[in-house]
Amino acid sequence: MEKLYVNGTIHTLDATSPLVSALAVVNGRIAALGTQEQVRAAVSSKAQVIDLGGRTVTPAFSDTHMHLISYVGSKREVDLSTAGSLEALIETCRAALAAGQCRNGWLIGRGWNQNGWPTPRIPDKHDLDRISTEVPIALSRACYHVTSINSRACELLGLSADCDGILREDEGNCLSAIEAQPTADELMAMIQEGCADLLKQGIVCAHTDDFGESGNYAPVYNAYRSLAEAGKLAVRIVQQCRFLTPEQLERFLSDGHFYGETHGHYRLGEHKLLLDGSLGARTAYMRKPYADDPSTQGIPLFTEDSLYALTRISHAAGFPIAAHAIGDGALEMLLNTVERLQKEAPRKDARHGVVHCQITDQAQLARIAQLNMQAYIQPIFVKADQHITEDRVGAALAQTSYAWKTLRTLGIHASGGSDCPVEPFDLLPNLACAVTRKDPTVPGAQPWHAEQCLTVEEAVRCFTEEAAYASFEENDRGTLSVGKLADFAVLSRDIFTIAPDEIGATKVEMTVVDGEIAWEK
Ligand SMILES: [Zn+2]
Repeated sequence: MEKLYVNGTIHTLDATSPLVSALAVVNGRIAALGTQEQVRAAVSSKAQVIDLGGRTVTPAFSDTHMHLISYVGSKREVDLSTAGSLEALIETCRAALAAGQCRNGWLIGRGWNQNGWPTPRIPDKHDLDRISTEVPIALSRACYHVTSINSRACELLGLSADCDGILREDEGNCLSAIEAQPTADELMAMIQEGCADLLKQGIVCAHTDDFGESGNYAPVYNAYRSLAEAGKLAVRIVQQCRFLTPEQLERFLSDGHFYGETHGHYRLGEHKLLLDGSLGARTAYMRKPYADDPSTQGIPLFTEDSLYALTRISHAAGFPIAAHAIGDGALEMLLNTVERLQKEAPRKDARHGVVHCQITDQAQLARIAQLNMQAYIQPIFVKADQHITEDRVGAALAQTSYAWKTLRTLGIHASGGSDCPVEPFDLLPNLACAVTRKDPTVPGAQPWHAEQCLTVEEAVRCFTEEAAYASFEENDRGTLSVGKLADFAVLSRDIFTIAPDEIGATKVEMTVVDGEIAWEK
């Protein structure tokens, strides 16, 4: 299998030859980089030649935190992300109900965000009863950390009469009972649908958190593994293995699973945990009460003791920890725990990490570096969060939060993701946010804390090289280098030379995996 890709503007991110016009592929790996004449020598005369038409090429992208199966499920739910008020939400749901858009007899919706509403109040059961009192309704907030349900749903879930219909954090776990478990075939079809959508974004690797809360990982694991072994997993999947209790994790380990277990494109990745909620819902766990609601500090999902009891198992088993921490209180708990684990049983290059890493102060950023931890960041989050962060945490703390340039300056490995379906995994708008730190929906928007803007190259590295580092695969992919996998994306414009404000609208036109064209516009 030999191929020559020629006549491109190929940004390799490899210092030895950063910009070339051609690359040769042999057996899925890059055999040579350079001019057309130079790379020809690496292949036989039978090699297929593909003309890139002068277009821009970058290493293919990765997204290091998402929920791929939920994403596909969310495509079938009522989309409330554009509801500009409670009234609009109610209208949209009434219309969906009239159109028969129910699943297992429930009306399921997602994506509402009260922060932009005229009255920014979280809907309760009385609000949702205005849609229906007969059909059970469950509507997730954009962050998925709060779900509003109606009276009928409260009744079916066996909740007490004084439940207000607002389920925060693990109160929402009872909702998993209403989801019909997809069959193995349905799961595999969902995964394939998700992968097909990823390829259109130039994404060839997704770190995805799909095991759910129950500890019953087998259906998801088997679906991915079967597809991978049949050569039908189009995208590389790094499974973020979510386990909530020592019992769940120990069962997984005693079933013989281990970090880095690989079946074709499917690989077991980090131990994923959730330490707190979201900033928008004020469930992110803070060290101090919220500036705009002093009655709460958010909701921690662990104590330092319970976090230690769980993570000492993954630490000992060789898993990197990837812990969702949005508030500085959750981060502090994580830092203390990693420090304790490393003191008691030092592990070199453990690559434990913080997912989101949003509210931080300078001392915490320094501790992340000192503990050699990585960050899984979502640049697209600044689009919405810049409008609420100062209200939530005050100006001083906002100044050192979402501090991605500081992460780089401190030498912290930070990779990019979307947390899809919280935000779409559309790659270029996400990457653009890292560069511009603007809300593109606001005309004439200015960068939010411009000193934290990344350069285009730094932002591209977040979604390529740093993402490969996140799963210990930096020797195999992440840059276009001789010997590495031939995974790359062909773009409609050269994002390295156009105005930063135009990056977000740039399109992916072709995605190449293992040297083969996996998707083309
Ligand atoms: Zn997530």
